[in-house]
Amino acid sequence: MYCSDLGEQWHAARIEPTITHLDSASAGRASRAAIETITAHLWREAERGSYVAAEEQASARARGRRALASLVGHTPDELSYRDSARACLRALLNSWNLPIASTVWVATNEFGPNLDEFERRGIAVRTMPSADVYGRVDVDALENMLQFEQPDFIHVCMIGSASGVVQPVLEIVEVAHHAGVPVVVDMAQAVGHVPTVTGADIVYGTARKWLTGPRGVGFLAVRADALRAVEVDSSEAYVAGALGLGQAVAELQEIGQQRVFRELAEIGQITRERLNGIGSWEVLEPVDEPSALVTLAPPPGWQPSDVLTAKRALQETGILVTCADSWRAPLANDQSVLRVSPHLDVRRSQLDALAAAIRTMGY
Ligand SMILES: *Cc1c(COP(=O)(O)O)cnc(C)c1O
Repeated sequence: MYCSDLGEQWHAARIEPTITHLDSASAGRASRAAIETITAHLWREAERGSYVAAEEQASARARGRRALASLVGHTPDELSYRDSARACLRALLNSWNLPIASTVWVATNEFGPNLDEFERRGIAVRTMPSADVYGRVDVDALENMLQFEQPDFIHVCMIGSASGVVQPVLEIVEVAHHAGVPVVVDMAQAVGHVPTVTGADIVYGTARKWLTGPRGVGFLAVRADALRAVEVDSSEAYVAGALGLGQAVAELQEIGQQRVFRELAEIGQITRERLNGIGSWEVLEPVDEPSALVTLAPPPGWQPSDVLTAKRALQETGILVTCADSWRAPLANDQSVLRVSPHLDVRRSQLDALAAAIRTMGY
C-alpha cells in the first residue's frame, strides 16, 4: 500500500529498487525516461559529434530550460547550469561585485559548506532571529532589524540539509526588498519538493535530489532586475545532464507540480506520525510541516557515532537513510540526526519496517 495515490505511477516510472530508498534528500531515484534521455544523448554525441548533437537538440534544451525556469519563477534566459549547487554558489560569489567586508544574513538552518564559502571570501555572517524552536525565521523581527541596518544580501536555505522546516521565503523576500536588500535562495532541498516561485533575486539548486534528475547538474538563476546585478556565464558543458533534468521537470509538470507538493507534504506528515517517539527517537519538525524531509533525534545519551552506527545497521537491513551530522547545519545542531526522506512511492510497510528497526536498535 503506497502512502500516496501517486505512488504506483511514480514507482512504475522507475526501475525496481533493491533497497528501501528513503533518501531523496541525498539523491532521488531517476525515472527510466530521464535515464533514457541522458543515454540517448550520449549515444548521439558519439555518433554525430557532440556539438552537432547539441545543436540538433536545441528545441529540447530550450523546452527543459523553460520548464525549470517556470518552476523556480525565473525566465529561461536567466538560467545557467553548473555541476552542483555548491558550484553555483561559488560562481555567484566569485563574479558578484560585493563590497569589501560585506555581510550576509542567514537562517539557523544554513548549510555548513555554504558558510565555508562565505567565510573563505571574508563575508561576515549574521544569523537572523528565529520565531520558534524549529529555527523558522522571525519575519517581523527581521523587518524591524532591516529598518536599522541592511546586510549586503540575505541568503536562505528554503529547506536545510538537516531539518524539514520550510523557511517563509516569500515573506523574507518581501521585507528584504522593502529595505532594498537582495535575497539569494538555496533551493537544493526545495526544488521539486515544495513551491519555489519566491520572487528572490537569485536562486540555485540541484537536479539530483527531489527532482530526481541526474547527479552532476546544478542550476543558478539571476533575475535580470536583481537588486545587485551579476553576470554569470552560461556554459552548459553537461548537455546530456541538462536534458535529463529537463525530462525530470517535464514529468513533474505532467503529474502537476502542486499535486506533487501536496502529496509530499502528506507523506512527510505520515512519516512523522509513524516514527515519532518510537524507541525514544524524537521527530524534530512539527508533524504537519509541509515537507517530506523528516529528521529524528536519537534517544538521550546517544553520541554522533551511535547515530552513524544506526544508519549503517539500517542499511544492512536494506533501508537507506542518512546520518546527518552537525556540519550540515552548524548554527542549529550540535547532534547528529537520522534523516528520512521518502519520495512519492513510499509504502506504509516500508515505514513500518523502519519503525520496527529503530525500535529494536540495541543500545
Ligand atoms: C545538497 C545541498 C547542497 C549542495 O548541493 P550539491 O549539488 O551537492 O552541491 C546545498 N544546500 C543544501 C541545503 C543541500 O541540501
